[in-house]
Amino acid sequence: MINRDFFTPDHEIFRDSVKRFVQEELVPHHHEWEEAKRVPREIWRKAGEAGLLCCDLPEEYGGAGADWLYNVIVIEELAYAGITGPGFMVHSEMVAPYILTWGSEELKQTWLPKMAMGEAIGAVAMTEPNAGSDLKEMRTRAERDGDHYIINGQKTYISNGQNCDFILLACKTDKNAGAKGISIVLTEAARPGFARGRNLDKIGLKAQDTSELFFENLRVPVTNRLGDEGGGFKMLMTKLAQERLTQAIRSICVAEAAIAWTVQYTAERKAFGGTISDFQNTQFVLAQLSAETTALRVFTDWCIQRHLTHDLTPVEAAKVKMLVTDLHCKVVDQCLQFFGGYGYMTEYPIARAYIDARITRIAGGAAEVMKQIIARDMFAKK
Ligand SMILES: Cc1cc2nc3c(=O)[nH]c(=O)nc-3n(C[C@H](O)[C@H](O)[C@H](O)COP(=O)(O)OP(=O)(O)OC[C@H]3O[C@@H](n4cnc5c(N)ncnc54)[C@H](O)[C@@H]3O)c2cc1C
Repeated sequence: MINRDFFTPDHEIFRDSVKRFVQEELVPHHHEWEEAKRVPREIWRKAGEAGLLCCDLPEEYGGAGADWLYNVIVIEELAYAGITGPGFMVHSEMVAPYILTWGSEELKQTWLPKMAMGEAIGAVAMTEPNAGSDLKEMRTRAERDGDHYIINGQKTYISNGQNCDFILLACKTDKNAGAKGISIVLTEAARPGFARGRNLDKIGLKAQDTSELFFENLRVPVTNRLGDEGGGFKMLMTKLAQERLTQAIRSICVAEAAIAWTVQYTAERKAFGGTISDFQNTQFVLAQLSAETTALRVFTDWCIQRHLTHDLTPVEAAKVKMLVTDLHCKVVDQCLQFFGGYGYMTEYPIARAYIDARITRIAGGAAEVMKQIIARDMFAKK
């Protein structure tokens, strides 16, 4: 493992407490949450009490006023332990930063302290059945009626969709202005006109609630809008860099964990008078994966440090997300092979890691969209 000396002794004390929380409160229950297709709200409150949510929020908004590395530690420890159910990442890494950066003082005071305590759960709704990668084609409309918007439309695949108390809803405030007609409106789930659809059946991330959401003549005060009218697309593009980096952080941890599980398993599993790890094929495949994972760990850590100083660019975030999620999928596939039939049994962490991995090359921007972002930048001045 490379030296990660940007973490201080205080960070490591926090890491120990997160590890304890994960082992005591999350690991023993994850399987039952997978069956239930959601995580109970109680666990959000426990996570809030333990300081695992929105760690970097300023104290005036109920946070610990910590640096973003505390958030990184939470993401890493959940990933190392194979915990995919609680949608803390969307809540802490997307919803809270949007409100902190662009919300009115009233929105910040109302929602951020509750988010830090796990008393309110947030979601971000961009994707629609007919508009995912091409967000400017979204159809959900927010029409002005005095000092309110009237919202009509539909979203899908929304993480925390069943559990959320409010949604940062991307919608068109001007249907003729393309990307410049998109705004973000904080929409409370308690308002009449809001309905949750199905908790969707997925091939992986089974404990995470992922839903369709419906909006019918839903009235929201204009003061619930984040930032300027029509500024939503720009906000999404700015904050998506953080979301993409957090996905890369998760993915590199899973790759490291999968290699460690495989080394341990193959060193113990007997075959042909030796162990599976005695085969040169096993050693060479794992050596290759280990080298590639180390290289991308270095790149990921470099991006973490760039983000800490607010220097991470959307292109760098696209590069790290594209490369690390690709490696993540390759590692879990090649490692699973060494487990033989056990690797196909969901009681084994490698099997769950395999099915959970696939989404990382789609959600938060498909791999092809990452390539488009990188290439557009390369050819911008040509
Ligand atoms: C488990 C899960 C959780 C999610 N959580 C959320 C959430 O909380 N909030 C939210 O808003 N959304 C969420 N999403 C939606 C996710 O971000 C979208 O699925 C993703 O952006 C892709 O959009 P799409 O599904 O409409 O695919 P499409 O846009 O139809 O794309 C399909 C495929 O076409 C190809 N493609 C697309 N664009 C290009 C291009 N420019 N160049 C080349 N090829 C291209 C890619 O291979 C892509 O995978 C979630 C999805 C899942 C499955």
